[in-house]
Amino acid sequence: MQTVLITGASRGIGAKTAELFAQNGYRVIINFNNSLSVAEKLLSEIIKNGGVAEIIKADVSDSAEVNKMFELITAEYGGVDILINNAGIAQTKLFTDITDDDWDRMISVNLSSAFYCCRSALPYMIRQHYGRIINISSMWGQVGGSCEVHYSAAKAGVIGLTKALAMEEGLSGITVNCIAPGVIKTDMTSSLSTEDFKELAEQTPTGTIGTPDDIARTALFLADKNSSFITGQVIGVNGGFTV
Ligand code: NAP
Repeated sequence: MQTVLITGASRGIGAKTAELFAQNGYRVIINFNNSLSVAEKLLSEIIKNGGVAEIIKADVSDSAEVNKMFELITAEYGGVDILINNAGIAQTKLFTDITDDDWDRMISVNLSSAFYCCRSALPYMIRQHYGRIINISSMWGQVGGSCEVHYSAAKAGVIGLTKALAMEEGLSGITVNCIAPGVIKTDMTSSLSTEDFKELAEQTPTGTIGTPDDIARTALFLADKNSSFITGQVIGVNGGFTV
């Protein structure tokens, strides 16, 4: 049974991805930071439906906590076959209002977390000459979002990390890819009104807003052993909002 670690999997895209991977026979490690009761509820749902999963608390923006999480995983399973760097935060602010703390937090949760987790996951993947790394960026990392400069910069960094790491790990049987979601209905976008969603859908070629399932299914495809010739790519899952 292959083991997948999904960071930030207590809610939203990560939670749906955990469900889908469990349904497809993967052992799922659900990382969370603050939402213990939500993570526990997700875990019991997965187990009730015959899946194999566990939860691990770690703030993935903190390298010491990531190291501790991987010590536990290594002791139990040797390592992870698939790493999905999904944990993230967003913030809408005028560029001139962004503080040092806002900037540091944005970069550490969205970008440094992926660095820490990849660094910890790779030795096992390299040893077994197999691995799948899937990083969750954003369409704002591709084209830039007004009033989200720090978010866009962090997500563009995730794209750079993906491409460079894919070059380095190709001969080790490890693929590294990136999903760049468009507007997806989760807690992260809960500040948008029904009217906002309607307008965004109208601006989208498919005329729809995305769901966590759209992202989870793309991750499942990239994680497959048969997706071995896809690496260093950024897959936009955005209904054509940016092309
Ligand atoms: P969400 O509903 O707000 O959920 C965020 C998840 O990240 C939660 O499970 C949260 O866990 C976790 N998290 C946050 N900080 C963490 C930390 N320091 N350590 C560990 N976990 C942490 O967000 P979402 O919409 O599902 O977003 C998931 C990813 O997709 C993010 O990287 C986001 O940037 C990206 N994305 C989302 C959209 C969108 O429209 N929703 C669009 C483009 C990209 P706890 O609650 O347990 O702390």
